[in-house]
Amino acid sequence: MVDLKTLNPNQLVEFFESLNHDKFRARQLMHWIYQRNESSIDGITEFSVSLRQQLAKRAYISNIELIDSRTSKDATEKFLFGLSDGEAIEGVLMPDSGKSTLCVSTQVGCAMGCRFCRTGSTGFKRNLNVAEIVDQIILLRRMGRSITNVVLMGMGEPLANIKEVSDALRRMTTLMGISPKRITLSTVGLVEGIEELPLIAPPVNLAVSLNAPTNEIRNKIMPINRRYPIEQLIETLRAYPIKRGRRITFEYVLLRGVNDSEESARMLSSIVRGIPCKINLIPFNAFEDSPFESPGHEQILRFQEVLIDRGYSVFIRKSRGQDIAAACGQLRGNRTGTYGNRGKV
Ligand code: SAH
Ligand code: SF4
Repeated sequence: MVDLKTLNPNQLVEFFESLNHDKFRARQLMHWIYQRNESSIDGITEFSVSLRQQLAKRAYISNIELIDSRTSKDATEKFLFGLSDGEAIEGVLMPDSGKSTLCVSTQVGCAMGCRFCRTGSTGFKRNLNVAEIVDQIILLRRMGRSITNVVLMGMGEPLANIKEVSDALRRMTTLMGISPKRITLSTVGLVEGIEELPLIAPPVNLAVSLNAPTNEIRNKIMPINRRYPIEQLIETLRAYPIKRGRRITFEYVLLRGVNDSEESARMLSSIVRGIPCKINLIPFNAFEDSPFESPGHEQILRFQEVLIDRGYSVFIRKSRGQDIAAACGQLRGNRTGTYGNRGKV
């Protein structure tokens, strides 16, 4: 049995041809899966009953399932999705003045072990496949949610799963009507992946979780820095083909007493100098047993001011959905925890 959601457009054409059907069937099928969000072969009423029966002997359409959801006071929604092998992942939907951004997961867990990240503290289980990545969007659309923007900032390191992620990005941009301009991939800074991405994926926006201005600090909070130190990462980004009018986003989680000094801000400004970029400051979101604290508001503003004075666009990311543990770094994908309304959805 083949999962039709894992086949790319060419493979779908081959699949229909192998059954002696015209290749326009592949187009029709993709329309039903990716635009009409159909979840079963049987539901594709444009196909005759006999064609549907013939397909069902060879193939199926996989679906992730909604296990639970919670809505925050600020209208952020967090979803717990169940996968066919019993694993679970999370997605977060953030409505904001006319747009609606879905934060998508790319792996079950994460192997990068960043010390300030809850996902990182639970370790790595497995990669998501292309179907499981795009299905986070498809399922929510089927439930009537509008999704205009996508950020690959949920559980997992997208570039550690670059093959499935780039397939998923291609589906989003060519079949699901989401412009690459409205998609952002966030990476911990895997240098080979950053080099490969523009060669194999649509031109989505790139965000890099820098989080520290020196190797000494970054080594302490991000183990990956020992493999790809800051100089190598920045050098790779200087060579990155940035589309006209776009910028790389640097993400910087502010940790009290670790990377939040004005000296750190000055060093940050000098290492990224010359790269078309904007800087997102993310005050640390605490989770249970986390070893860090967020700086106070005053300190955050001082950090921002140092960078603004040096000509950078700097945004303090407001923390969304904190009351439901949906904010950055709080995702863990457990089936209990912060979900209080099991079975209600
Ligand atoms: N693995 C990718 C994408 C997912 S993490 C990456 O690291 O970029 C998405 C963002 O959340 C990263 O920028 C990360 O630095 C940030 N983050 C992780 N834990 C956090 C926490 N506890 N508080 C605030 N931001 C956090
Ligand atoms: Fe993984 Fe990103 Fe969390 Fe680091 S911050 S552990 S790369 S999900």
